[in-house]
Formats: sequence, C-alpha cells, structure tokens
Amino acid sequence: MSVAYFTSEEHFSHFTDEEHPEHAMRILAIEQELKARHLWDQLIHIKGEEATIPDILRAHSKGYVDQLHLIQPEHGHIYVDEDTQMSPGSLRAALWSAGSCTSALDALMRNDYQHAFVATRPPGHHAEHKKAMGFCFLNNVAISALRAADQHHLQRIAILDFDAHQGNGTIDILGNDHRFMICSSFQHPFYPYSHYQEGRYNNLINTPLEAGTGSATFRAEIESAWLPAVRSFAPELIIVSAGFDAHRDDPMAELCLLDNDYHWLADQIISLATPRSTPVLSILEGGYHLGALGRCVAEYLQPFVKHKA
Ligand SMILES: [Zn+2]
Repeated sequence: MSVAYFTSEEHFSHFTDEEHPEHAMRILAIEQELKARHLWDQLIHIKGEEATIPDILRAHSKGYVDQLHLIQPEHGHIYVDEDTQMSPGSLRAALWSAGSCTSALDALMRNDYQHAFVATRPPGHHAEHKKAMGFCFLNNVAISALRAADQHHLQRIAILDFDAHQGNGTIDILGNDHRFMICSSFQHPFYPYSHYQEGRYNNLINTPLEAGTGSATFRAEIESAWLPAVRSFAPELIIVSAGFDAHRDDPMAELCLLDNDYHWLADQIISLATPRSTPVLSILEGGYHLGALGRCVAEYLQPFVKHKA
C-alpha cells in the first residue's frame, strides 16, 4: 500500500502576522525536511479539495459557521479569541483544510491507500461545536470522523491526539458518542483548561502529563492507557490528531519528547492498524519550532512508508 500526502496551496490564504506561531512556513518546513530525507519522492502527492457545507455542519452549528463568514475581515486581520487570528482568506483556507482531510478519508475508504497524512493549516482540534479557539476554526478531525460514520457507515473510529494541548474541540463535538473512542495526551494543567472532568465523557481517555515529561514516562502512559483500550475497541478507522508541539524544542509547550518518540508513535499506530488492515488518517495539528516540526513529521512518516513494502 502507498502512503498519500494531502495538502493544498490554499493554506497560504490564511495569513497570520510574522510573530504569530501558526504560519505558512510550517508546511514549507515539513516539505523541506521530507525532501532532504528523500521521503518526499516515496509519497503519493494529492491536492485536497474544499469541504462541503453538509460535512462542516455535522460538526459545527450553522449559526457559528454563518458568524465566521460575517466577522471575516476584508483586509488586515482580527482576533477571534486572544490568540486566533483571522485574515480575509482564513475561511477559504479552513474550508480547504477540512476538505483535504475529508478527501483523504474518502481515498482511504476507497482503499486507494493504507495511510494518508494531511499537511494542513489552519489546524482544527481546538475548534468546538460553536467556538473558534487556539488557532482553529473548523475541527478537521471531527468533520472527518463524522463523515466516516455517516457517509461511510463506520461504527468504531478511534481518535488518537498526541498534540501537547488537549483536543478540547474534538471532545466537545464527539464526546459521549460511542461510535468514537478519543485518546488525548497533553500537558496538564495547561491550555485549553477544559474538558478534564473525570467521568463526564465515557468515550474519552485523558492522558495528562506534567510539564517536563519526557520520552520514558510518555511512552509508558501511551502503552498502558491507550494501546490495550484501542485494541479492544477494534476500530475500523484510526484518525490521528498529529500535533508535534510536545517536542522538547517547541516554544508553545513544556513537554520534552524527542524526534524518535514520533517514530515510536507511528510504530505503535501501525501495530494497532496491521491486524485488521485498519486505515490510518493522520491530520496535522500543532508544532511550532520549524526545525523540530519538519524532523518529527519525517520521523512519524518513515515507518508508514517503510511498512508499505
Ligand atoms: Zn498544540
């Protein structure tokens, strides 16, 4: 099976200012590193598409989407919350970001590929049902998961979120919906400071990590809390909120993962997927140190590329 790499140039439409950590250079840094390691030529490159409104409205309220269109500026940028910038092209980019994910999903469901990685921005996992936050407008993972359930009739979808920040938006949208199992590891206490309440969501495995947590503790937590639970859930699809800001070099969090932890994570996900040939859809979330982001995405993709042989 081949590994597909989905992206689109529409992400350039989401223009953030120079000081903002979530900017277009992130995608370019990934591509540069993949080329340097000769991984680029081993991926199948596919341009994403614009998301459809019915796909968006499975995850977000119509009132919220209408409001996003109303507040989008005609020039310059505004702040939707204290750190989420919106420019004249942000919604276009967000729709293409979500649509790249759903087109990757459809390709997996056609069995074109076993694994697809979507290099996309703006990211999505903080966007709630009716709230933009944390650099996110539309929840790419939740939109894809709901399309997989409703249009492809899947009944068990596992969502693995190893970004340094909890996937509060994904939990807000998919919490207590038993078609989905959500595993989220994150620095704690830390942004977004929500959706922690013990027992509130019975399809959620929260894996809080203290600031300074390194490889050994992280791996032990994933091994004990995630892997057996996902195996017994027996997902028909694995969607990964692939954020790379838990790396030691990342300026946005205080976790201390190393490059090869992302290689290890990919190995674990492949071990979950292999017995039933479960397709894996990985969607870029955070990762703000350009060098570490490029290296960690390469480390993460390497096992998938190798596994295809
Ligand atoms: Zn993050």
